[in-house]
Amino acid sequence: MAAHPSPSTHRLPVEHLRELVRLPTMSRTEVEQTDWAPFEAFVEALPRMYPAVHGALTREIIAGHSLLYRWKGTDDGPPTVLMAHYDVVPATEDGWEHPPFAAELTGNGESELIWGRGTLDDKGSLVAVLEGVEAAVLAGAVPRSDLYLSFGHDEETVGGGAQAIVDELASRGIRPGLVLDEGGAVVEGVFPGVAEPIAVVGVSEKGIVTLTLSVDQGGGHASTPPRLSATARLARAIVRLNRRPFPSGLTPTNVEMIETLGGHASGPLRWVFTNLWLTRPLLLRLFGRLSDETAAMVRTTQAVTQLSGSQAANALAERAVATVNIRVAVGSSVAEAVEHVRRAVRDPRVTIAVPQASEPSPVSPTTGPAWELVRSTIVETYPGTIVTPYVMLAASDSRHFARISDHVYRFSPFRMSAQERGTLHAMNERMHVATFLDGVRFYTRLVRALSN
Ligand SMILES: [Zn+2]
Repeated sequence: MAAHPSPSTHRLPVEHLRELVRLPTMSRTEVEQTDWAPFEAFVEALPRMYPAVHGALTREIIAGHSLLYRWKGTDDGPPTVLMAHYDVVPATEDGWEHPPFAAELTGNGESELIWGRGTLDDKGSLVAVLEGVEAAVLAGAVPRSDLYLSFGHDEETVGGGAQAIVDELASRGIRPGLVLDEGGAVVEGVFPGVAEPIAVVGVSEKGIVTLTLSVDQGGGHASTPPRLSATARLARAIVRLNRRPFPSGLTPTNVEMIETLGGHASGPLRWVFTNLWLTRPLLLRLFGRLSDETAAMVRTTQAVTQLSGSQAANALAERAVATVNIRVAVGSSVAEAVEHVRRAVRDPRVTIAVPQASEPSPVSPTTGPAWELVRSTIVETYPGTIVTPYVMLAASDSRHFARISDHVYRFSPFRMSAQERGTLHAMNERMHVATFLDGVRFYTRLVRALSN
C-alpha cells in the first residue's frame, strides 16, 4: 500500500463525492418522469475520476443505466460482488439547511460535514468502493478471484437494474462467494447497557407484502346513507387489523445478536441478555416496547399507508380502498401474512388483493471465510467495535442476489448517529467527512484483502 497520503490526495475522495452528489439522480416512482440527463452525466464522470479502475476493469451498462464492472482475478474461485446504488430519493430545497444537491461543506476537523441527498444513501458507499479499487489497481494489486462492482440506478423504486444484473450473472453461471451491499452501519447507544460502538451487519432482510383491502358497494347520495357504508366497513376492517398485531418471536439471528451484544452489556442487563433460556419472554416484551425499531425486529409489522373513498364530498363511495404495507419477519412467509390479515378482518365483503409480494431473504451464515472477511475488515477499520448480525428491516437491492449467492451481507461502513440515520430519505441528509474517509479505508482494506 502507498505510504501516508498527502493532504491533497486525502481530499480527492471528498471532491469526487461532492461532484457526484451535485448530480440530481432522482428516482421517480413514475419512471417516465425521470430526468435521465444527470444519470448519463454520472456514468460519464466516473472514467475521468477513476482512470485506473476504467483501465483494469471492464464495464457494462445494464438495463439502461445500471453499471456492472468486472476485475478479472488470477484464480477461478467464487467471485466477490461489491454493490451500491447511485439513484437517490427525490428532494427539493424546501426545509434543507443546505441545498440537497450543492454538496456544501461546513465545520472543521472531526466535525466537518458534507451535506446533500445521497451522501449516506448511497453515493458515499459507491465512491468509497471506487476509491478502494482505484488505490488497489494503482498499487499493482490483482484480485485472486473475479471482483464485480454492481451499481444500480433504481434501487429506491423498482430495483430493476439489480435484478437485470443478477439475471445476467446467473446466465453466465456465476455464484459469488461474497456479496456486500448497503445496510447496517456502525452505531452507538441503540442497544441497552452496551457502551461500545456496534457494527450491525444485515444477514437477511424482511419480506414485503403490499396488500389492498377494498369494499365495493352501491353508491348514492350521502343524504340517505345505509347503515354500514363502504368507507365505514373498510374503517372497521382497519381497526380490527390494528387490534391484532402479528405474533412476536425471536429469530435465530435475533438470538445471536442478543447473545453477542449481551456479553458486552453492563450490570444486570448482561445477565438478562445472556440467559435467554430464562429471560426470553421478558426480552420479547422489552423489545416490543423499547422503540419502534426494536419492535419491528421481533415481528411482522403492518401499516395502513393509503386510503381512498368517494370522489365527491356529497356522494357515497362505491369503492373504498386501503393499502396495507406489511414487512414479513424472517421465519414467516407471504402466505402467513395474508392469512393473518384475512382472519383479523373477518369480513367476506372486504376483498383482499396482493398486488406485490416478496418473501423474506434467506439468512447468510455468520461463520466461514466471507463473514470472517467482513468482520475482520470492520474491526481493523473501527477498532473496539463489536460486530453483530441482524435482520435488516428495510428492503435493498441485495435481496435479488440471494438467488445466486448464499453469502449476502448488508453493511455501510460508516459511523452513523441516530440523528444522521434520521436524515435517510428525509431532509438535511449529511455525513461527517471523517466518517466518509473511514468508509474509504474500509473498502481499501477489503479490496486489498481480496488481492494478491
Ligand atoms: Zn440505499
